[in-house]
Amino acid sequence: MFRFLVVGVPLLLIYGWMVLFRAGAPAVITITPELPAIGRATKVEIVVQQTSRGFGDVNIELVQGGVSTMLASLESTPRPPHRLWGKVNGLAEWTLNVGRDEIKTLKEGEATIRVTVETAAGLLRRPGPAEEGVTLPVYLVPPPLGRTSSRTYVNQGGCEVVVYTVGERSVKDGVQAGEYFFPGYPLPGGGERDRFALFAVPYDMDDATGVRLFAEDLVGNRSETRIIDQFTRKPPKTDTIRISDGFMEKVVPAILANTPEMEDQGDLLKNYLAINGDLRAKNTATLNRLVAASKPEFLWNQRFLSLPNAAARSAFADRRTYTYEGQAVDHQDHLGYDLASVRNAPIPAANHGVVLMAHYLGIYGNVVVIDHGYGLMSLYGHLASIAVTEGQEVGRGDTIGTTGETGLAGGDHLHFTMMLQGLPVDPKEWWDAHWIQDRLASKLGPALNFSN
Ligand SMILES: [Zn+2]
Repeated sequence: MFRFLVVGVPLLLIYGWMVLFRAGAPAVITITPELPAIGRATKVEIVVQQTSRGFGDVNIELVQGGVSTMLASLESTPRPPHRLWGKVNGLAEWTLNVGRDEIKTLKEGEATIRVTVETAAGLLRRPGPAEEGVTLPVYLVPPPLGRTSSRTYVNQGGCEVVVYTVGERSVKDGVQAGEYFFPGYPLPGGGERDRFALFAVPYDMDDATGVRLFAEDLVGNRSETRIIDQFTRKPPKTDTIRISDGFMEKVVPAILANTPEMEDQGDLLKNYLAINGDLRAKNTATLNRLVAASKPEFLWNQRFLSLPNAAARSAFADRRTYTYEGQAVDHQDHLGYDLASVRNAPIPAANHGVVLMAHYLGIYGNVVVIDHGYGLMSLYGHLASIAVTEGQEVGRGDTIGTTGETGLAGGDHLHFTMMLQGLPVDPKEWWDAHWIQDRLASKLGPALNFSN
């Protein structure tokens, strides 16, 4: 009896004290918005956690200018104070779409996502609720966008420029033409909101009505405007190339030897088709990766040079059908000019720029790629020798190598391509001082500082 009093009474007293006064710790609330602003539908993740005694009712609301809108709520009961163990509901999670789509009264300005969680109480002790809030700007109006240049006359496979102003909230702006995005850049010498975008209509796009200048803020509010005043279709020409065993015997072993990642399939035609198809696509991807290294400045201010005294063996963007023993075995687009002069003719850099590539690359053989800034590059393929190194700055007309027949070439010639943001475009325009003056320089003015 005495032993019971000594041990039992204090235990009873402790238990009684706990039931009356033991409150739970406040819940831990985390609010994680997907973006640093609220737009039409911004995803917000909310986690409420308290694993020792659980938590009471949860309210999630959006508060703007003293008006509160309930986003979600949960009725929850923590473990009562007289129970010392047992299961608790310690975790709740929500993914909510917060924005104008759900809350029609939402306005531009600021709004607070507020989460309130009741705390587990003792019989005589009721702690306040846990509370957490995140205040974010509300963006509902797309960034203002205005074209300031006029007379946008563009050819299929050709380039143009648009000069425009954009609101400060824009995080992405430029021209979208099908799958190609041509980013806008600050206009050199212009005001804070003055921008320009060099763009092209892809060689295989015969309807340019969908080409748009656009600006987007960080929650996806988007302004769009049409920019093309006149579009000239230039349907690709078709061309048939007969492949002979002699040609394949000349090019296939050399390309395989220089391309260790390619597997010899033990058959000349199979190897050739893998080179003309798969390897061509891989080489295109490699060239596209150079775009990121392009300098955001005009590295040139004169027209581009072609190979002197050269005859053009192809136009830009020929649709080629390849036949072997009378059968069509392949189709590819030839996206450059084949220029033939004398054997091993010295090749001038088309314009001032920085060498981004100077090595062997599959179908192009020995190739040089020069960056001219703002995503514009020139490519020189099938070289016999390369006279420049990667990273080297070259002047307009400097010799960068000699013509040859490395890669997929039947005879000595230069394969010349101009690329804008990785998309091959018609070099003829860039060779033409009048075109540059009328289409680009007249709109860019001192930003380009073109000299004829
Ligand atoms: Zn070619």
